[in-house]
Amino acid sequence: MECTVYVTENCLATLIASCLEIPHKETGGFLIGKEDKRFVSGERIDCLTLDAAYPIRTCKSGKGFWQPANTTAYKRIIGTIKAMGFSIVGEYHSHIANVAELSDEDKEFIEQEIKNLEREEGRITSWIEMVLNIEPKTYSRKIPRSCQCSYFSKKIRCTIKGIREPQKGYSITIGTYWFDPETVSYEEAVVHVP
Ligand SMILES: [Zn+2]
Repeated sequence: MECTVYVTENCLATLIASCLEIPHKETGGFLIGKEDKRFVSGERIDCLTLDAAYPIRTCKSGKGFWQPANTTAYKRIIGTIKAMGFSIVGEYHSHIANVAELSDEDKEFIEQEIKNLEREEGRITSWIEMVLNIEPKTYSRKIPRSCQCSYFSKKIRCTIKGIREPQKGYSITIGTYWFDPETVSYEEAVVHVP
């Protein structure tokens, strides 16, 4: 089945700000969302809507790695989100000057994480893993502060300019992967933003 993931404006703002807080280190967290219907390219379709992203503070990270580092804190976040009636539908993490694709290490990590989660929370039928690849950019002239998103293939690329220095910016490519724990298979989902 083809899966469409719709990222709300609020969720996109949190995702990008969380990735650019320390742009030379990977970051990540949970994705909170629900099954929904949305207008995408003039058509009302079934999709998974991401309402919020929660950056996990208790993590270990560097240029090539990110992972939650405190099991108790991790479980506390899950418990809190569930207690409030929201659902964790997946996770996001950034890559630095790499690709917006899942690495073999990412897949190994996700499969183990789902096994651990199922032990505590019961069966998980689907999981979304979002990868945001961050590329720093330098421009030859001063550019006003701006954000532009464009679609290519199933991914989205957001270019953020003039955040702190008028000649610097970042290009963030977002790839989203739908993981089926039963068949242990991955499929790239189509990402949409408002
Ligand atoms: Zn990764």
